[in-house]
Amino acid sequence: MRHLPLFPFSEADPIRHAGPPPKTSEVVIVGGGIIGVTTALFLAQRNIPVTLLEKGRVAAEQSSRNWGWIRKQGRDADELPIVIEASRLWRQLAEECGEDIGLKQTGVTYLASSDKKMAGFEEFMKIAAIHELDTRLLDADETAKLIKGMSRRFKGAMTTPSDMRAEPWLAVPALARLAARKGARIVENCAVRTLEISAGRIKGVWTEAGYIETSSVLVAGGAWSSLLLARHGVSVPQLSVRVTVAATEPLPEIYSGAAADDHIAFRRRQDGGYTLAPGGSNLLYVGPDAFRHATKYLPALMANPFGTRYFPFAPSGYPDSWSTPRDWAPDSRSPFERMRVLNPAAERSGLRSVEHNFKHLFPQFETVRLKAGWGGMIDAMPDVVPVVDHVEAVGGLFVATGMSGHGFGIGPGIGRVVSDMMQGNETGHDLSRFRLSRFHDGSAVRLGPAL
Ligand SMILES: Cc1cc2nc3c(=O)[nH]c(=O)nc-3n(C[C@H](O)[C@H](O)[C@H](O)COP(=O)(O)OP(=O)(O)OC[C@H]3O[C@@H](n4cnc5c(N)ncnc54)[C@H](O)[C@@H]3O)c2cc1C
Repeated sequence: MRHLPLFPFSEADPIRHAGPPPKTSEVVIVGGGIIGVTTALFLAQRNIPVTLLEKGRVAAEQSSRNWGWIRKQGRDADELPIVIEASRLWRQLAEECGEDIGLKQTGVTYLASSDKKMAGFEEFMKIAAIHELDTRLLDADETAKLIKGMSRRFKGAMTTPSDMRAEPWLAVPALARLAARKGARIVENCAVRTLEISAGRIKGVWTEAGYIETSSVLVAGGAWSSLLLARHGVSVPQLSVRVTVAATEPLPEIYSGAAADDHIAFRRRQDGGYTLAPGGSNLLYVGPDAFRHATKYLPALMANPFGTRYFPFAPSGYPDSWSTPRDWAPDSRSPFERMRVLNPAAERSGLRSVEHNFKHLFPQFETVRLKAGWGGMIDAMPDVVPVVDHVEAVGGLFVATGMSGHGFGIGPGIGRVVSDMMQGNETGHDLSRFRLSRFHDGSAVRLGPAL
């Protein structure tokens, strides 16, 4: 394997949204991933003064490192209405931002090598029927026809032709530029250190560039959300899992959409290459939070939806590393500015296996050359669905985090919902599944689908 370049977004990149931040803002958003960016966009469209603060660079963490799948297929039943809205919003925003973000309706397909897997797909078909999705089951011949030249014969597949793909590292920065054009104030390289809370209400945020007075804060910090919230006594049982991704050089088209079996996931990219991910490369670094929240994760561990392995230490500076401080003062350097961009290394064995498995599945490719490989930390919740809620004990504090590996596709839907929630409007969706209190009120953990 050739030397692989580092993932393109890093803290060495130029700052595209410069400070200083304002002294006051009606709304402050912590985190410049897809969730923070789209929330800021929808608030700005309603002329609400909003400031988005990003400790590193917009989309430098999960929101650019992801596979770029925008799928309704395999979703939790309670997420589906929001994802259906998100699909419509993706099309609208792609038009509005006036840049090519690689949005294409090319379908998503899951391949089944066993009857058990097909039975799981049949379960989802009941949900698909309720929402009138175009999801279909394919038999072995239809599967072989859809994705050309596979060396393996699968039992069948589940496919949703209306599902989409986009290029994450183009899309999220483009949406941030659109939000800024609509009036959102975006400031990169500006960590939020602490929240200022008085008499049970948000009064402001302390940043590394000073204090901002505000009455409304959204924490959309991805893998860092629980660290910031725990500093203020708000417990969110969120953990993060390292995953590995690779990008090939351009290759002939075998399928224009995205597909996965148990060993490999692949998606055709705009540049003619494929984005690949190996099965079984997920790694949970066990830190204090992993111990603290272990019982809540038992159902997920038993179902093992991420196929996760464990390592007893996170690298220094990671959100749940043993040495990461859990308390810090507003006027001292926080863990957030110590790690501007969480950039985990790709697992070399994962890169080797994905290159091998892709070539093996498609023997018509004479060579498969990886041009890049990177890691990402997926922020997961015990039931594999997000938290989208206000914090009852702190007036004006909202949380949208724990997207559990599928926040890119649903992102604009969550952004629209949260923007309305923060304005006190009806959101148009039943959000009870995503309430924060489900982890503290004795509710049983109800696992989302591991499809
Ligand atoms: C490898 C991989 C593949 C994936 N594939 C898909 C896919 O195909 N489809 C899909 O739908 N989803 C996918 N996902 C999941 C998706 O990428 C995430 O769910 C989504 O990007 C999360 O967005 P976010 O805005 O919540 O968090 P992030 O994108 O992680 O953004 C959070 C931001 O907050 C900033 N921040 C944190 N704390 C602070 C602070 N105190 N002050 C200032 N800034 C702060 C961080 O620097 C970060 O930029 C994948 C994820 C990974 C890692």
